[in-house]
Amino acid sequence: MSQSGARQWRVECDCIPEVAEARDTQHWERMHSQVSKANAGHFVSENRLAADLDEDELRQRHEQAHGALVVCNVCGKLKEVAG
Ligand SMILES: [Zn+2]
Repeated sequence: MSQSGARQWRVECDCIPEVAEARDTQHWERMHSQVSKANAGHFVSENRLAADLDEDELRQRHEQAHGALVVCNVCGKLKEVAG
């Protein structure tokens, strides 16, 4: 599914309201990719992040996360979800 081999999560995100409007159910669900220590560099090199973080900063966020750290596949927003 994604080159990073990242685990995929369905998480709500507030991006692309057009899609939300066109759907009958699960309006705000978007696929997200889980950030791991191993694939953090991938998100940076492939420019998948909305935030301007380098690899070290992203790894740091990953280490500090209480749950899973995921990136929205659509808009690149970084968020934590309960692991
Ligand atoms: Zn999004």
